[in-house]
Amino acid sequence: MLAGLGLLVTLALFSLWAIPAMNTAEIRSFCWASGSLSEDVAAIARQGDRWSCGNRKVSIEAERVLLRFDLDPKEALPHYFLSRRSAIDAVHLLAIDGDGTVRQNTIPAVALASSMAGGYVKAALPAVSRETRQIIAAVDLPSHPMTLERAYLASTDAGQGSADMRFLLLLAGLAGTLIMPLIFNAAFYRVLGESFVIWHSVLTLSLLTTILVTSGVSVMLFDPRAMTLSWMTTVLFGVTVAAGAMFTCRFIEPGLMHPLLRRLLPLCAAWAMILSVSHAAFPFVARPMQSSVYTAAFAPILVIFLISQIDALRRGSRAAKFQAIGYAPMMVVGSVRLVTGLVPGLTSTDAMLLFYAGCIVEVLFTTLGMADRFLTLKRDRDRARTEADFLQRLSETDALTGLLNRRAIERQFEMLRNEGFASLAVIDLDHFKSINDMNGHAVGDAVLTATASALQPNQDVRAYRLGGEEFVLLLRGNDAALAAERRRQAIPVAVASIVPGLERLLTASMGVTDFTGDENFSEPYARADKLLYQAKRAGRNRTFSVMNWIPAHKTSPSASSRRLSG
Ligand code: GH3
Ligand code: MG
Ligand code: MG
Repeated sequence: MLAGLGLLVTLALFSLWAIPAMNTAEIRSFCWASGSLSEDVAAIARQGDRWSCGNRKVSIEAERVLLRFDLDPKEALPHYFLSRRSAIDAVHLLAIDGDGTVRQNTIPAVALASSMAGGYVKAALPAVSRETRQIIAAVDLPSHPMTLERAYLASTDAGQGSADMRFLLLLAGLAGTLIMPLIFNAAFYRVLGESFVIWHSVLTLSLLTTILVTSGVSVMLFDPRAMTLSWMTTVLFGVTVAAGAMFTCRFIEPGLMHPLLRRLLPLCAAWAMILSVSHAAFPFVARPMQSSVYTAAFAPILVIFLISQIDALRRGSRAAKFQAIGYAPMMVVGSVRLVTGLVPGLTSTDAMLLFYAGCIVEVLFTTLGMADRFLTLKRDRDRARTEADFLQRLSETDALTGLLNRRAIERQFEMLRNEGFASLAVIDLDHFKSINDMNGHAVGDAVLTATASALQPNQDVRAYRLGGEEFVLLLRGNDAALAAERRRQAIPVAVASIVPGLERLLTASMGVTDFTGDENFSEPYARADKLLYQAKRAGRNRTFSVMNWIPAHKTSPSASSRRLSG
């Protein structure tokens, strides 16, 4: 993944270098004037004192702002008016010849085409000839000064050269790499089920769409109307900011961001959506200051975002580190825009290419951050599971003999029954109390341990210490009763060899029963216990059993107990 990232950065730098030289046939210098919608555009053009020249700072106070391009007859003839896209109402284009002839095109905003140069509108000029001296472009209800300040005339639509095509293809390819994080996200979400994965996908999708919408790629593919792209860009910006805020809110590890900041981020997301959707839907309500107010209204979001990022870094969040690296190129873009826009003498730039590279770096680093989190969470979960398993085993193990205890039987009974275990034996040591009384408790304990060793659990026989000197076997297979009996008879032998010097042979009594597929542990246990009691009463050191046991309600009451051995 890091290698892929390196490749992307290289590609982005390459495309920066490969960016085409400016079209030499562009006419950029103009004079500008203000007017009202009711005034005749051609009439204003004739009033020389209304025009201000040599100053590219254009005011959008007026309802209609006019630009005048003076043509040099020796230069190539322009055919297009191009400018930065923002919400406007209409464009009037006038070609004025030396003899005063005026030809006019009026293009309502909805009919404006998009330029292949990303983020620009394109409008065809009326017929221009060698006699044409001036082109007037009148913009009705401009919403952003950029649309006037960046305006120029050109003989062809920008971005149609082969170098530009190569650039667009490269950009489309880079945008395509954002599909990969989306696929990763689907996998992360299945495993983690964390909401930050969803927000990351929304963020990735909105950045991907932003690249397509603000560059010539969408124009090459769909030729959408300029105003459609204009409102889409605005809404996408809101979605990107909102998704970024929500992602940060959910992605920073618990406890590593001030709770107040974590509560503020969703409010930032909502605020960004309200701002961008209302600005896109009603671009002219508060014209001419609407765009400035709109931009300024994002300032609190930026501040809260920066503070939460710094706060999380200070608290040692790994997630914040990945985010900080991911956002670095975007910060550079923001600074370039701010500096070139504010410092007089610098040509204001959007640094679009760096912005696209920034989008991709942002997505890739946050994806790396999520992969990192994925590994951490998985490691934590595995460790917790191992600990839980260990604790469960501990709580189900008898400390003295190492056998499983009653808690284990109750948990495992149904499972074992389904695996074919169908017999239960209860074994109780005979006169065990006297062993304790005569040899002490420690010897009694050793006898219990020796007894456990005689029970020999295997895949068809499970052994448990139920408590005191009482043991339970669960068995499966045709010779289950025989297997239980062998173990009971092994007890005196094991005890004699492990605990030598006892005054008498230590024997055990046993009750054995089958059980059916719908019985709980307590039912066969009660039956076996009763059989055990019978064995004790009959003289101990023997087994009583009921095999092929059928519940009373299913058959005649002829189930009989029989003595297996003694
Ligand atoms: P019976 O043949 O009727 O079963 O006689 P018994 O003496 O074996 O039965 P009883 O229930 O009267 O005595 C069981 C004794 O087991 C009582 C108790 O002191 C002893 N015991 C229970 N748990 C332990 C243990 O963990 N260690 C030791 N050393 N003795 C235990
Ligand atoms: Mg006993
Ligand atoms: Mg007992």
